[in-house]
Amino acid sequence: MDTINTVTGTCTPGELGRTLVHEHLLIGFPGWHMDAIAPRFRRNDAKARAVEMLRRLQDHGVKTFLDPCPMDLGRDVEFMAECAQESGMRVICTTGAYFEAQGLTYTFKNLPVEDIASIYEKEITEGIGETGIRAGLIKIATGEGKVSDYERKMLQAAARAAKRCDVPLISHTQEGTCGPDQIEIVTAEGVPPHRLLVGHSDGIDDPAYHRRIVGGGAYIGFDRLGIEMILPDDIRLKNITSLVNDGHGRHICLSHDSVCNWLGRPILGEGLVIDDPSMIPQMAPDWTPSHLFERVIPKLREAGVSEEAITTMTDENPARWFAGDEAP
Ligand SMILES: [Zn+2]
Repeated sequence: MDTINTVTGTCTPGELGRTLVHEHLLIGFPGWHMDAIAPRFRRNDAKARAVEMLRRLQDHGVKTFLDPCPMDLGRDVEFMAECAQESGMRVICTTGAYFEAQGLTYTFKNLPVEDIASIYEKEITEGIGETGIRAGLIKIATGEGKVSDYERKMLQAAARAAKRCDVPLISHTQEGTCGPDQIEIVTAEGVPPHRLLVGHSDGIDDPAYHRRIVGGGAYIGFDRLGIEMILPDDIRLKNITSLVNDGHGRHICLSHDSVCNWLGRPILGEGLVIDDPSMIPQMAPDWTPSHLFERVIPKLREAGVSEEAITTMTDENPARWFAGDEAP
């Protein structure tokens, strides 16, 4: 693939540069707009916060910010485009939907798989709604432990559209499960495993699970750096270092799944409603998109990971995943 859609135009894989593969400018869980007692969303303040954050990342050499917000989590591609324009950061958005338990599923549950593939294809080739902004890749998602029938259909639709449009797939997994199932489902539709980045694989401290993903030929996301509520970073660092030492560094992509702005109140798990999003930095001080550069990379160096291996993860792997013509 030579041309990647960004929210403000196109670029080539070679132009991506240092890339954060999984961060969010704006997220709202389905139903957020009914939460009338949530703190009011102020678009201009949100944009100013996002632009400032993107500029801070530019100081760390970040050239591309991938926001894989699914369609059903408050995706706002015009907001993304405004933030990209004001900051000068390259931003890439996705088409695709979230997993069954937390998504907005009624319509897609009832549409045939081919219609869903056509919807994804339209958002990649023609644009999202009336915006003319085109998705650069497709988000897929599965729940904990088992892929539901709905999720299987959505993965099949995504794989068909990915094949027709020659774009990669980025995934959500829950608690570090079902990554190998995702590989199996999309490859059965004819998508090579190296077009899939299995996201949130750092949600489980299971070296054998990580090796099933890299062994299956996919990219693996250690993309929740700094979310120590799920797992301490020391465990992520141990697992990254071990994968690099075993020769799997060309499979690893690093990111934080940070959220710059929330629509409604963040719900960070069953019953875990955060009344005020401004409390999150106290709860998870390292959950910021610059944490990788400020604290994680220095620790990787201390653990003996080479400069070359670090650049492979931050710069080369995202470009190779998008280009798609070469396995890791
Ligand atoms: Zn995410």
